[in-house]
Amino acid sequence: MEICNHLSCTACGACKNVCSKSAISMREDSEGFLYPYIDESSCVNCGLCQKVCPANKDTPVSAATFYMAWHKNDEVLQKSSSGGVFTALADYVLARNGVVFGAVKNPDTQEVCHIMINNVQDLDKLRLSKYYQSDTKNVYQQIRGLLMQDRFVLFSGTACQVAGLYSALDKWKVNREIIRGGASRRLITADVLCHGCTSRKAVSCYIKAKEKQYKKTIKDYYFRVKTKNVGWQSGGGTRMKLEFSDGTYKVEDKASDTFFVGFNNYLFLRESCYQCKYCGTDRISDFTLADFWGVDSHEVPPKQMHLGVSVMCANTDMAKKMLPELSNSLYIEKIDSQKAIPYNLAFSQPGDRPKIRDSIFKRLENQNFDSVVKHACWKYYLKLDVKQTIKKCIGESRYKKMVSKIKVMVGKA
Ligand SMILES: Cc1cc2nc3c(=O)[nH]c(=O)nc-3n(C[C@H](O)[C@H](O)[C@H](O)COP(=O)(O)OP(=O)(O)OC[C@H]3O[C@@H](n4cnc5c(N)ncnc54)[C@H](O)[C@@H]3O)c2cc1C
Repeated sequence: MEICNHLSCTACGACKNVCSKSAISMREDSEGFLYPYIDESSCVNCGLCQKVCPANKDTPVSAATFYMAWHKNDEVLQKSSSGGVFTALADYVLARNGVVFGAVKNPDTQEVCHIMINNVQDLDKLRLSKYYQSDTKNVYQQIRGLLMQDRFVLFSGTACQVAGLYSALDKWKVNREIIRGGASRRLITADVLCHGCTSRKAVSCYIKAKEKQYKKTIKDYYFRVKTKNVGWQSGGGTRMKLEFSDGTYKVEDKASDTFFVGFNNYLFLRESCYQCKYCGTDRISDFTLADFWGVDSHEVPPKQMHLGVSVMCANTDMAKKMLPELSNSLYIEKIDSQKAIPYNLAFSQPGDRPKIRDSIFKRLENQNFDSVVKHACWKYYLKLDVKQTIKKCIGESRYKKMVSKIKVMVGKA
């Protein structure tokens, strides 16, 4: 039995969570992506898994209202991927004796999965974007139980996971007032604007290549890093930090790092991400959190460009009602959506599936990660080489002047 079209399955885990016979488990395929696996001996063919699957139906959405936002506490910002909006939402819920669900990376197994936390000390586990897929395990069941006990719940994840959660709660007939209603509303959802997920396999091929390159064992790694010298500005924060087992570390160069070049060129995303139906400005969650890559540096205090600025979309009445209280910890300012949309593809459409995606995982199995990405993105690396050679010859500041002159000439300034 097929739960949904294989290419549309997002691995949200709604099918596994609602199966009353526990007949469904999530298993990694040969590319390292999770897919539901049905144990036919336990399955009673009730069809609930097909009915709950968000890939087989439409999910209600609401139009986003765009804000720029950042956390007023610099320490929080330093630890967050972008503007720290997630922490403000989590604090709001924890202050009401609520619980928070988000994605954590286990440093020993490198598995990313959703967990529940109920205190601010544990927020560090959930902060920072992990750019491969999180396993939602049985958290929708846990959330159902907590909502029935009248607890406040914040669920943060990708939009497809939020769709899975809503669909499971609807199937369990949890009172809609608690999920989407007014005064008795207990569930708050936040999706991280996602242009696609990679697999654990792709990342472990990258890590192997780096271990070979540096001739050291990598103990842990982070996809986002803000240091004294490298801030959030212009995507500087999306960098690989590799921690070696000898206690040293290396922060990779963003422009040439093969993981981010491959990720940003959509080389090894999950198949469903290339046809993601949650892209756009009509959103499924209460809040959508993104980086404000389009921010005008003249419109924010200079230190914000280093520490991080978020786009926060308030998509529902509930979200808009929360804004006055959130503004105790967040700086919030309404913005024209056009300042954000052109810089965040997922507000418009999914990324294009490159032809090489057909064979990329086979190639990663047999060849070094760096060579696969450099071969696939050779035009990008050629441009980068030319840029770096010119910079070396004429110096950084003359290079910048030259680029801005060219931009004026071609009308792109
Ligand atoms: C796979 C992925 C792709 C993304 N792509 C884009 C993009 O193209 N453009 C853009 O502007 N922003 C993107 N983001 C969102 C961005 O990286 C930040 O997560 C977001 O701006 C929130 O920042 P913050 O400072 O409030 O969050 P932080 O305080 O850093 O918290 C991070 C939040 O992300 C959640 N999270 C982390 N990893 C995962 C995961 N693997 N699956 C589900 N949830 C996770 C955590 O639970 C937490 O809620 C992406 C995030 C992810 C996880």
